[in-house]
Amino acid sequence: MLPPSEAELQRFQKQCPPRVHLRFNRNRQTLVSLRQSPTTRQWTLSLRPELLQYPGCEGDLLRFIAQNGNGDFPYLRQAVQDLFERLQHHQAQVIANVIDPKLSRLPTVGHEIHLHQRLKALQAQYWPELNPPHISWSRNPGPRPLRSIRFGCYRTSPTPRITIHPRLRQPWVADCFLNHVIHHELCHHAQHCIPQRRFRREPIHSPRFRQWEQSYEYYMQARQWERAYVPYLMDPNKPRPHRTPDQELV
Ligand SMILES: [Zn+2]
Repeated sequence: MLPPSEAELQRFQKQCPPRVHLRFNRNRQTLVSLRQSPTTRQWTLSLRPELLQYPGCEGDLLRFIAQNGNGDFPYLRQAVQDLFERLQHHQAQVIANVIDPKLSRLPTVGHEIHLHQRLKALQAQYWPELNPPHISWSRNPGPRPLRSIRFGCYRTSPTPRITIHPRLRQPWVADCFLNHVIHHELCHHAQHCIPQRRFRREPIHSPRFRQWEQSYEYYMQARQWERAYVPYLMDPNKPRPHRTPDQELV
């Protein structure tokens, strides 16, 4: 199930009472939660956006907010259960080393990767008004398995610079994923270049950041590819599933 479009998310955001801060999550366990901060008293609704695609769920969510989470919300309950099962199934496929053929057929970066050209093209499309940051590969950790991986990094000093993890410098990496990582870091550059006055320090992945990030044309494919392939990026020695011949022909 695909998440709703940005316009749909914004429409829901407008319906939410202003006292509630809305945060879209990518959790696999807690798909929706409504909490009040004990210090600031601020309410936050954390929501897996796909839930909005279920019939009746939006109405239930608004009641859920209005009643501070107290009551019964049958559409929401049903939607959470269904989405939870779908996500579990997807995760099981990943663990079983099965990759959705749709993802394994995405165009790959190939042997020659020009980070500067990619950055230039993405910037021309999404952020033509900004001065471009520098871009380079970050330090190579070698072939050892990693416990976590940060695909991209953005720094402002001494000059704005994006670095990209060298594990993405492999010919089988999906083209849309590398561009997604560069685009994500470009959005951090935009945050830096266009400060939001109401924040002393804007949250790193603030709502406007998430909106920008999701404006990337192949955002969904890139995220799905990431979920499927991250184990092979973390451990380059892990054998990747092969495409079957009939998949090659499609
Ligand atoms: Zn980030």
